[in-house]
Amino acid sequence: MPTVYSHSRLACFEKCKKQFHYRYIEKRPVDTESIEAFVGKRVHEVIEKLNRFVERGVVPSLPKVLQRFRTDWEEQFQAERVRIVRAENPPAVYRENGERCLGNHYRRNYPFDRDESLGIEQHVGFALDGDGRYRVRGIIDRVVRAADGAVEIHDYKTGRWVPSQQELDQDRQLALYQIGVEARYEGTATVRLVWHYLLRDQLRVSTRTPEQLDELRAHTIELIDRIEAERDFEPQPSALCSWCEFNDVCPAMRANASDTAPPAAVESSPETSVATRHQLALF
Ligand code: SF4
Repeated sequence: MPTVYSHSRLACFEKCKKQFHYRYIEKRPVDTESIEAFVGKRVHEVIEKLNRFVERGVVPSLPKVLQRFRTDWEEQFQAERVRIVRAENPPAVYRENGERCLGNHYRRNYPFDRDESLGIEQHVGFALDGDGRYRVRGIIDRVVRAADGAVEIHDYKTGRWVPSQQELDQDRQLALYQIGVEARYEGTATVRLVWHYLLRDQLRVSTRTPEQLDELRAHTIELIDRIEAERDFEPQPSALCSWCEFNDVCPAMRANASDTAPPAAVESSPETSVATRHQLALF
């Protein structure tokens, strides 16, 4: 059975092969998560619930949406499980940011009647090649039919950083999802990729040509070949190590602890630098 790849799995390999090895090959159990991941999950869960209400023709009030978020936070936040790298920020700062994300989203989209919902948290799975050897899967936050008939792939982001249009025009995650969505909604002339940068209340849109999708397929197949040929899985220290769930066991961190030099510069491929800036700008 060929391995099925997600965007996160591919991005992890590009970011740090050692982290990839710990996470996907050794499958080391992790019982903590970053505060940024915790907030992102809570915001996504509340937006999912809101979207499901809207699908049934009910629009909850903003105070109810915010109360849902606060209740979920209280029930699920465990100080010993949630890692805060930026120690100067108490958990309340992150909770307020989550509330700001939801408030911005609600006010921008109310009364939530601009499009037709085709799927919420929609799973996509597809092959990049004719033989089905290179397989990709993902979960799309929301798929909609816009008023002009186009299918839109919507993604919610809770970090502070908003990439440039040029960076989004090269973004891999939603473009990969487009390959799966086009197979599902055959005959759709236009597919748009839509990012909601909730904390900054910014909306960004991009499209891909068939040629760009072919190029993406080829690059992703090439990346999967590199992953499957990799044997060494060397650490790639970077500014992101502070957020890594394995930094207490990683040999590169032990080496850095006895060395005053800062972590090595981050590998400068476009994908990695975009992922890095995204992570560093989280709240
Ligand atoms: S601590 Fe840094 S170098 Fe080590 S696995 Fe994590 S990201 Fe890679």
